[in-house]
Amino acid sequence: MTGVCLAGFLASRGCAGSTPKQALPVYPKDRKHRVASRISESGHEPPSGSARVTPEASVKNSALEISAGPVALGPCFSDVRLRLAGPEPHTLTELLQPGNIGRPIGNLVIFRSLWEEIMQRRLCMLAIGIGANALAAISALAQGAPAAAPEVTLTRLECGTARAPTDVGARTGAGLRFSDTYDFDGLKVQLVFSCYLIKHGDDYMVWDAGFGKGAGAVAPKETIPELLAKLQLKPDNIKYIGISHYDGDHVGQVDLFPKSTLLIGKGDWEELTDPAKSNPRANPATFVPWIKGGSKVEPVSGDKDVFDDGTVVMLNTPGHTLGHHVLLVKLKEKGYVLLSGDLAHFRENYDTNGVPVFNTDHTHTLGSLDRFKKIAANLKATVIIQHDERDVGKLPVFPASAK
Ligand SMILES: [Zn+2]
Repeated sequence: MTGVCLAGFLASRGCAGSTPKQALPVYPKDRKHRVASRISESGHEPPSGSARVTPEASVKNSALEISAGPVALGPCFSDVRLRLAGPEPHTLTELLQPGNIGRPIGNLVIFRSLWEEIMQRRLCMLAIGIGANALAAISALAQGAPAAAPEVTLTRLECGTARAPTDVGARTGAGLRFSDTYDFDGLKVQLVFSCYLIKHGDDYMVWDAGFGKGAGAVAPKETIPELLAKLQLKPDNIKYIGISHYDGDHVGQVDLFPKSTLLIGKGDWEELTDPAKSNPRANPATFVPWIKGGSKVEPVSGDKDVFDDGTVVMLNTPGHTLGHHVLLVKLKEKGYVLLSGDLAHFRENYDTNGVPVFNTDHTHTLGSLDRFKKIAANLKATVIIQHDERDVGKLPVFPASAK
């Protein structure tokens, strides 16, 4: 880019602290979604008939400001403020993927005109030497090159101490009945307790939170934070704590991650928090940081594309509980991996579409198994049944990770 172009651009924009007040361009209102509009600190009125999101309305209707917003990017973006109504933060780089142009993201639509203008502003940033990281990403986008895909890895964490093999055909005793059709007579299966760490670029997610330290004989020998420390990570580094469902062997350590955004099926969250829907099976004890407020929770209805790029997706698979989810992870070398949650507890149950008596709903479970198996086939995914010891070896032994 030549100096002449830069000079002209900066003069026209009043960049780097000179006279910035100009009439605001506004963007056409989409019929279904509110518009991603520029918000002026100066309060200019847009031309009549056009849409505009006022700062007040934006604050009122949105949960979060884009993380690489005007403050991070400095004066070149001083009059641009994008806000999303969704509870999930997006970096500017994520939002500015060319594929997002015209696509609804939360309440936001990035129109081409806005996208092109932001691309132009990288010149301003170049001229005054700010936002080096954002500049690199935006420049790559502006040149039509796809931004480097974030590295995704998957690591298994031991989240409980295994008992002796379980008689999954038992009809009495502890009341565990893993089949509501009197199947598996005499079958004993070694069950284990698994959590997972997912690295997505610089972000981390923990999937399921196992038993807690107070769980007696099945308590984990090391907590998840103790395992993370071996990877030079702390709970504060974990952006999301995702829960397949609310049973005690999946949520025992969730309260060790109060700074993380809790992702949990809406049906499960409602049973934990709504007295009218309470279920004795749903114990809110470890969810206090989110129930009291102060910690962020996102009840998930339907599926949830966690990082908005298809690499980590919570899939709605009700039946074991109302809000049960499994997790799909896309790895560059290993391909797709499906983590079962408790959609099935062991291989024989999975293979025969068996349904435990303690599930919330037999029919929902069958529907979820059908969906899960079709996804596994279509994506040629590695299926990992989280409780089945025979599936532990499908991932490298901790601290190694699948890539
Ligand atoms: Zn379980």
